[in-house]
Amino acid sequence: MVIFPQTHHSKIFINFADLDQYRIDPALSIKINIMLRTHTCGELRTEHINTEVTLNGWIQRIRDKGALVWIDLRDRYGITQLLFKEEDTEKQLFEKLRSLGREYVISATGNVIERESKNPNIPTGDIEIKVSRLTVLNKSEVPPFTIEDDTDGGEELRMKYRYLDLRRMPLRKNLELRHRMSIAVRNYLDKEGFFEIETPYLIKSTPEGARDFVVPSRMHQGEFYALPQSPQTFKQLLMVAGYDRYYQIVKCFRDEDLRADRQPEFTQIDCEMAFVSQDDVLRTFEGMTRHLLKDIKGVDVNTFPQMSYDDAMQRFGSDKPDIRFGMEFVELNELAQGKGFNVFDSAELVVGICAPGCGEYSRKQLDALTDFVRKPQIGAKGLVYVKCNADGSYKSSVDKFYGQDDLQAWAEKAGAAAGDLLLVLSGDTHATRKQLNELRLHMGDTLGLRDPKVFKPLWVVDFPLLEWDEDSQRFHAMHHPFTSPKKEDMELLHSDPGKVRANAYDLVINGVEIGGGSIRIHDKEVQKRMFTVLGFTDAEAQSQFGFLMNAFEYGAPPHGGIALGFDRLVALFGGQDSIRDFIAFPKNNAGRDVMIDSPSIIANEQLDELGLKLDIKNKQDKQN
Ligand code: ASP
Repeated sequence: MVIFPQTHHSKIFINFADLDQYRIDPALSIKINIMLRTHTCGELRTEHINTEVTLNGWIQRIRDKGALVWIDLRDRYGITQLLFKEEDTEKQLFEKLRSLGREYVISATGNVIERESKNPNIPTGDIEIKVSRLTVLNKSEVPPFTIEDDTDGGEELRMKYRYLDLRRMPLRKNLELRHRMSIAVRNYLDKEGFFEIETPYLIKSTPEGARDFVVPSRMHQGEFYALPQSPQTFKQLLMVAGYDRYYQIVKCFRDEDLRADRQPEFTQIDCEMAFVSQDDVLRTFEGMTRHLLKDIKGVDVNTFPQMSYDDAMQRFGSDKPDIRFGMEFVELNELAQGKGFNVFDSAELVVGICAPGCGEYSRKQLDALTDFVRKPQIGAKGLVYVKCNADGSYKSSVDKFYGQDDLQAWAEKAGAAAGDLLLVLSGDTHATRKQLNELRLHMGDTLGLRDPKVFKPLWVVDFPLLEWDEDSQRFHAMHHPFTSPKKEDMELLHSDPGKVRANAYDLVINGVEIGGGSIRIHDKEVQKRMFTVLGFTDAEAQSQFGFLMNAFEYGAPPHGGIALGFDRLVALFGGQDSIRDFIAFPKNNAGRDVMIDSPSIIANEQLDELGLKLDIKNKQDKQN
């Protein structure tokens, strides 16, 4: 074994036997020599009592009781309590304490002693340090918000001072989770024979359905790079090149409106495999997901069920159903139409869910549900309810049109028992399903059926290849234009493209679309046909995707892949909906980085170099 000096305070031990594989022995690998400190703030326990230690960190809190002063010292690893007793602390040192403030960086040396009143809430809670020497390593302004687990800082302020926000333990834990998961992904895929290969960021547009971010070229004025919406075309080219198992944990860029689980730049676990069927891809990434759940969360999950897109829409009104709970859709057209209730009679679909145990809902609760579905973002016109009373009778909001027998038939179809509540919507099929999906999720939340500690993954398969866009009067690729139609539907590509199903799949966990992929087209003629269906002229297809179609002339293997949203996956494992606190430096709702103030204007010289002129009145003013 040799020791390579790495930096002035760390050493990397490399095991010679592994050198030819460029592998560092993980057991011995890295040992950091701590220079200014002997231990971290998360490390000391009762077995360290009576040792002299030096800790470095930030002052989280000072409690000054006159003759007794305590300081909570924080670093990445935890918090340790420092103790100063006036009676046995040097006068000079004791006075120095009064000049300290929150977030000062200090070095404290002293003896580890047992605490009189222990704190069972922190791992170092049994001990404290009786400090004999203290050095201020750096002062700090008073931070603009408290750096505690529950901070008083609003989102915008926390983003502006993200480096302070990142000192808080919840964020520190989120980033650790992210780190652990990326290691687990890499380990798993490495064992499965995948190569991690980087692909360029300065490329030309990839059609993933969003707007591109573009970068002007200085050397080729008037021309622009586009940042990749994903490495889709490159990973397919890698398959043509023979790298039959590729992955990359990679940034992707999409200029679209932001939501809690969207950022203009986000990270994917991007993968591609050659000589595989859809089942092979699903098996591999089901294995990876299962490995992550076990390794990181200690959770075992069964084989992931597969549900067709059509089934998912019919049973849950969503292509990303949350199957942690039931409340499946029950279609009531046959039972509810033709009884004189015009709203139902004129509807394409009458569909309900059974909310278990909600049969005693009050007027107020029912009104609140009606208000919920009538919110503009949901858009239902109204809500019909049927209460299944304890005595076996039914009470509904449409009693005028339906007798007890009718309502009983609905309840039976929905599997509703006494004490349950049926909630029914009607209207156009697609819109009504979407609305009832929202109501179902809302009821799931209300009834506590969406436990973030429970993980229920599934594959949604057999997506349509295309979707019709009313605005542009054209088909759009539902996934992307490289997705292969199902063999048995190939003929329909000419006769009835809207009916073609794709070899495309999504991984869904707890109602979140974690990833999606497909088996690709690897035949030049089929790819050409696909571009035609999507409304590209031959010349347009050639100029945008000629490089891929040319590559297909040189022996493209059958291939397919998937990409998982890494930020979403980490947030899901962390039990949260928003991905923002699982990204070290995220953008705000308006796509801004408020810490570095970006986007921002650039100097006129930069514009000149790029051969660009701005034509935006107020920006131009700013410039001058
Ligand atoms: N490139 C696709 C995406 O970003 C994933 C894939 O088809 O592999 O959604």
